[in-house]
Amino acid sequence: MVESLKDFRRSKYCGEVSLKDTGEEVSLCGWVHRIRDHGGVIFIDLRDREGVVQVVVEERTNPDVYEKAGRLKPEWVVGVRGRVRRRPEGTENPKLRTGYVEVVCEEIRVFNTSETPPFPVDEETHVSEETKLRYRFIDLRRSSMRENLLFRHRLYQITRSFFTEKGFVEIETPVLTKSTPEGARDFIVPSRLHPSKFYALPQSPQLFKQILMVSGFDRYFQIVKCFRDEDLRADRQPEFTQIDYEMSFVGEEEVMEIAEELLDRLFRELLGVELKRPFDRISYREALERYGTDKPDRRFGLELIDLSEVFRETEFRVFRSALEKGGVVKALNLRGVSLSRKDIEELTSYVQGLGAKGLAWLRVEEGGVSSPIAKFFSEKERSLLLRKTGARSGDVIFFSADSRENVYRILGNLRLHLGRRFNLIERERWDALWVVDFPLMEWDEEEGRFLSLHHPFTSPREEDVEILREALKTEDLAERKRLVHSVRARAYDLVLNGEEIGGGSIRIHTTELQETIFKLLDIGEVEAQEKFGFLLNALRFGAPPHGGFAFGLDRLVALMRGLDSIRDVIAFPKTQKGICMLTSAPDYVTPKQLREVHIKVDG
Ligand code: ASP
Repeated sequence: MVESLKDFRRSKYCGEVSLKDTGEEVSLCGWVHRIRDHGGVIFIDLRDREGVVQVVVEERTNPDVYEKAGRLKPEWVVGVRGRVRRRPEGTENPKLRTGYVEVVCEEIRVFNTSETPPFPVDEETHVSEETKLRYRFIDLRRSSMRENLLFRHRLYQITRSFFTEKGFVEIETPVLTKSTPEGARDFIVPSRLHPSKFYALPQSPQLFKQILMVSGFDRYFQIVKCFRDEDLRADRQPEFTQIDYEMSFVGEEEVMEIAEELLDRLFRELLGVELKRPFDRISYREALERYGTDKPDRRFGLELIDLSEVFRETEFRVFRSALEKGGVVKALNLRGVSLSRKDIEELTSYVQGLGAKGLAWLRVEEGGVSSPIAKFFSEKERSLLLRKTGARSGDVIFFSADSRENVYRILGNLRLHLGRRFNLIERERWDALWVVDFPLMEWDEEEGRFLSLHHPFTSPREEDVEILREALKTEDLAERKRLVHSVRARAYDLVLNGEEIGGGSIRIHTTELQETIFKLLDIGEVEAQEKFGFLLNALRFGAPPHGGFAFGLDRLVALMRGLDSIRDVIAFPKTQKGICMLTSAPDYVTPKQLREVHIKVDG
């Protein structure tokens, strides 16, 4: 049944056969996509990586081949030799690249048969994610998955030529290494040769790319796998890909310019889309104040409105106590949507899921308001509130009164939820936005110390360095917090349609400043040496001023393809629980393997 490939060589991809080939003989290799027997004529849709072409087998002209074609089944691997002809008028399929032609079959070779696949190779059948991932080799035959991966391939190529043209050098950094400072948990790999010792998989090439700057490779880039052992939140992957770069003798403007130019080029070449440049910039503080998040989706309005001043003296206990505790009262004004009681209940349970106690709301009506809480407001508060929110009849205002962080989180999420639920988002628009002026560090209540917002190698603004030195001198924690919180980082995040697609910073390049930062972060000398000694050492030997950036490639590709999940643009992704369904990794290893790496496991 199975035949040899001997003397049979492909002349073209199925998906590439076109009118230009009319009259020519072609040899195609592929998978039987669909087969239709019309009695006397069999149509085979033959599929390969580039697409599908229609093959016609006629009993009248070729009875033997016809008989063979009748035995083919979906997903068998075959070779077809035949002549290309224009499809008869009325049977063309303009939706297919090959839709104007067909191949009149003269020979079929069966290279292999196939079991019946667990799901058909089409876009229509609903298949559970688990099954798709378990049979990823079949899932990847679907045209959407094929196109995602081919798109991703083109994106790599454009990226590589872009950086090469700009004078960047591609250098690989180690995968078996030491902990890197991105703040997530490391994946660790035991060492056989060094009992009790472990490698860490890199969370990013951060330290190595900085060292490359010290070595004088003043423009580096890499398309690189990174690993972070995080609790699996929605749509994260434990291993993911970054487009990573670093430059010497530059400030933030040059680093940001490269990111803009690359994105501009990718959009132009891959989607034919012109991004609005230069990208807008927004400060971290303003992003939080207006959108409740540091990655704003500006494709719709519904901004957060501060009402703290309106309610400063209010009798309404809920608002008042939030304000007295140093919190804020903010609101969203939803316009143009008529909400039912059930909608409001659903929105209430949505914010409760985010930890809010409830959802205070108010509907503006002709000549008044209707709201369970309006009776607590004074006349003045009511009119000020309507003025500040610009509310008109029909609008519904949602309130949140709590600590600043909680209000941002609750209203920021509610804003997005409303945007999606009521279709307020301009889906056709591409909105790229820089978020800048991040604070360098934030006080972490749980740990009782400052933590870097990016990583500890991010440089403070030059004009703020003095404040850091002062902060170190004071013993008064409140004063120290005030000073440190006012220090801005030379960091920048890039946000596209409300998703963070990259981030970077200008780095600290002097040992002295690095030491000050470590002191403020409460990282002792021993710990610093232990963790990042190799970088600190390098900084002592002529480190140039430098900075860089990294794009999250998977997220970028998913966004460009209009997909919600990065799993759809990764050939072999893990499930939400971090499992590779195809190989069933992570898996047990043999007792011998464990002994070799000097590990005893419980249970
Ligand atoms: N290493 C950083 C990250 O992975 C990016 C950078 O600062 O260049 O987020």
